[in-house]
Amino acid sequence: MINHFTESAEQTELIASKLASVIKKGMIIHLQGDLGAGKTTFARGFINALGHSGAVKSPTYNIVQSYQTDQFMIYHFDLYRLSDPEELEAMGIRDYFDGDSICLLEWPENGKSLLPPPDILVNLDYENENRQIKFEPISELGHKTIDIYREI
Ligand code: ADP
Ligand code: MG
Repeated sequence: MINHFTESAEQTELIASKLASVIKKGMIIHLQGDLGAGKTTFARGFINALGHSGAVKSPTYNIVQSYQTDQFMIYHFDLYRLSDPEELEAMGIRDYFDGDSICLLEWPENGKSLLPPPDILVNLDYENENRQIKFEPISELGHKTIDIYREI
């Protein structure tokens, strides 16, 4: 587990960009935290760091937004408005977790059992005006990646 403390959206984006610099193909990252905690801000820093220079908005209404960069296909999900996990079946959710693409998911708890487990769980918490961000490696690849992250 790694703990960060951030005082601004810019600092959160910087932390996300550092994680992006050690990411491996096919990795799944869950972003957990209350509304306004900074999940989309984190995703923006992450996706921009991988080479996407345009806007990164919350895909609340379309559920998933894709980004193609030189290195990776990235899928950014926001399951906030998902009322039934079965909707994920209907959209062919399994096809997104293809072992090559990077998947970032906001509100993964709404997808429940229909989602594969993450490699890394990112938890964002309010700490007064500021935020605390925790990285918890889940898979073996997640553990290796976090070990590398500690050294950069
Ligand atoms: P979520 O996706 O979790 O609902 P957003 O990233 O959309 O949250 O919004 C976070 C809001 O909080 C933004 O308006 C951002 O500017 C603000 N904010 C203030 N401090 C921070 C911080 N340390 N990290 C991230 N966002 C912050
Ligand atoms: Mg969001």
